[in-house]
Amino acid sequence: MYDTIVIGAGPAGMTAALYAARSNLKVATLEQGAPGGQMNNTSDIENYPGFEMISGPELSMKMYEPLEKLGVENLYGIVEAIKDEGDIKKVITSDATYETKTVIIATGAKHRLLEVKGEDTYSSRGVSYCAVCDGAFFRNQDLLVVGGGDSAVEEALFLTRFANKVTIVHRRDALRAQKLLQDRAFAHEKIDFIWDSVVEEIKGNDLKVTSVDIKNVKTGEVTNHEFGGVFIYVGLDPVSNMVADLDITDEDGWIITDDHMRTNRKGIYAIGDVRQKDLRQITTAVGDGAMAGQQVYQFIAGLD
Ligand code: FAD
Ligand code: NAP
Repeated sequence: MYDTIVIGAGPAGMTAALYAARSNLKVATLEQGAPGGQMNNTSDIENYPGFEMISGPELSMKMYEPLEKLGVENLYGIVEAIKDEGDIKKVITSDATYETKTVIIATGAKHRLLEVKGEDTYSSRGVSYCAVCDGAFFRNQDLLVVGGGDSAVEEALFLTRFANKVTIVHRRDALRAQKLLQDRAFAHEKIDFIWDSVVEEIKGNDLKVTSVDIKNVKTGEVTNHEFGGVFIYVGLDPVSNMVADLDITDEDGWIITDDHMRTNRKGIYAIGDVRQKDLRQITTAVGDGAMAGQQVYQFIAGLD
């Protein structure tokens, strides 16, 4: 019986585990991959206090190392369901069931699909959702980035290290990304923009992507442009399928909590990107994690 199981070892989950373990609780993280979550998919983090710049994988390791020293158990598995049996919660993976007094859900968010013709056909053959993972395969090519948020602009800037040219196609005429990133992109000689436009179809040969049909949403005109790769950053969906039966999400699947990270089920908390919130960042994820770690201690000590 654990005091708490933290599902997901991104920045939110690792911080929750840190705070709970420092309260001398019996804590496990239950993660399906390497610790770090989405941080592992970004190269340069410039807005985490204390570091002028740090790579995502390096920050992940810095967050993970103290957990080992504090004796946090590192369980591996894909959580399929959580059963709320009152004082006992059951966390179910495909090959094990764990019992715990409390659960902290920190499963984050995953990239959204564009859902256009050719996206699925050319996935991993020119269509990518991770510039850090795949960018180096596209040396000296012309690349298309889809989206107008922080991810699209930041990863377009990253791709300029390899690409001949990077074009950002956005469905409006103004970016959503933070101003500093916008300024860098506008000033970059390798980046240009196609405004008020959406991808209609990703085309290619037997091997890989060769071009993209792009439609101007104001004029309706469709034009074909040659690109060797398409990087898609059109937002996030919550990873909350494992709580579908618990009635703790909004209609889009984001988990609803109060300021103390409590869901409407006693002993079940949610933190980080999977939570219904306004700002999805590493800083806000670790803030949520700290609160949940402390709350779990108070709940178990009867102080809640
Ligand atoms: P996540 O990081 O998503 O971690 C969730 C973890 O849960 C993952 O490790 C996942 O494997 C695990 N998991 C999910 N489902 C299950 C399951 N069923 N069973 C077991 N484990 C599961 N933020 C910044 O502040 N600065 C930046 O520069 C920045 N750059 C970014 C660049 C990109 C390309 C992206 C995509 C995001 C960026 N962000 C940045 C946002 C930031 O990474 C997220 O806000 C943050 O990682 C959210 O942390 P989290 O712990 O809530 O979730
Ligand atoms: P996001 O902020 O939701 O932006 C998604 C972008 O895709 C928006 O510009 C949106 O257009 C566009 N879009 C959505 N659906 C589309 C569709 N079907 N076709 C074409 N375009 C579509 O998502 P994100 O950029 O992935 O960022 C997610 C979170 O991570 C945010 O909280 C962000 O701040 C954070 N993050 C932070 C950093 C950083 O701090 N450096 C870096 C990356 C991510 P509209 O603008 O018209 O809605």
